[in-house]
Amino acid sequence: MYTHVKDILRMAKESNTSVIAFICMDYVMARTVVCAAEKTNTPALVMLYPEHVTIQKTTGLKGYAESVKELAAQVKVPIGLHQDHDYTYESIMRAVDAGFESVMMDGSMHSLEENIAMTKRVVAAAHARGVCVEGEIGHVGTAAVADNKNEDLFTKPDAAALFCRETGVDSLAVSIGNAHGEYKETPHLDIERLDAIHAVTDVPLVLHGGSGIPDDQLLIAFSHGVNKFNLGTDFLRNYFKAVQDYSREFDAVQDPVKIINMPEYVQAKLQPWVENRMKTLCRF
Ligand SMILES: [Zn+2]
Repeated sequence: MYTHVKDILRMAKESNTSVIAFICMDYVMARTVVCAAEKTNTPALVMLYPEHVTIQKTTGLKGYAESVKELAAQVKVPIGLHQDHDYTYESIMRAVDAGFESVMMDGSMHSLEENIAMTKRVVAAAHARGVCVEGEIGHVGTAAVADNKNEDLFTKPDAAALFCRETGVDSLAVSIGNAHGEYKETPHLDIERLDAIHAVTDVPLVLHGGSGIPDDQLLIAFSHGVNKFNLGTDFLRNYFKAVQDYSREFDAVQDPVKIINMPEYVQAKLQPWVENRMKTLCRF
């Protein structure tokens, strides 16, 4: 059932757990998430990374929103649609026009004042249209350069409180020892800092850079205020592996038409991993 992200985040907050937002670059990934959610009876978010439209062109903006809503309408479990990291008012409004009712405004690379001003503008326009906004304070950097260990980038609790008050964001991405992509070594989340942020804010907190953080740390974070958890790299890796399996199993020269069975084959390989993530991490 297509459900507003705001309602799914409220459910997660009430259950003291986290919904998983899966980065889905195309219909196969989105369909896999929706089917896994239905099978495990776990609410989930299908999340678009805007560059998959603008740079890699694996999907269209409006078509993505419509196909996720169509998939969601076929199941009973709540499914939300969210657009990940976007950086300008104009492109966020394009996503809203295309049917996204939940977006992220990431101004975390700017000064606190600029980040507040940019995010506040997006929130005002988005709320007027019933759209919820995720902001980011501190900066979730890149795992490949060990940004997860750079405390200069970590979220400061007083800045988080000010940011939420000034902007009116609906959820907040935090930097607490997490980073995007492949970690060089096992990351360690700063749970004390998370508690301090949670104590002075009242919106659901969001953890980016979810691939590679051990499950025990994730479960602690989810019971300490994190209600949305972004998973991209691991999902893409498993998708890639499933495509490799398919190409090993079938020969294009022998039977070129076999390509039409690839989505179904790949989904069958991929879905158990998604179900496992939901069953292990979500406690709705
Ligand atoms: Zn992110």
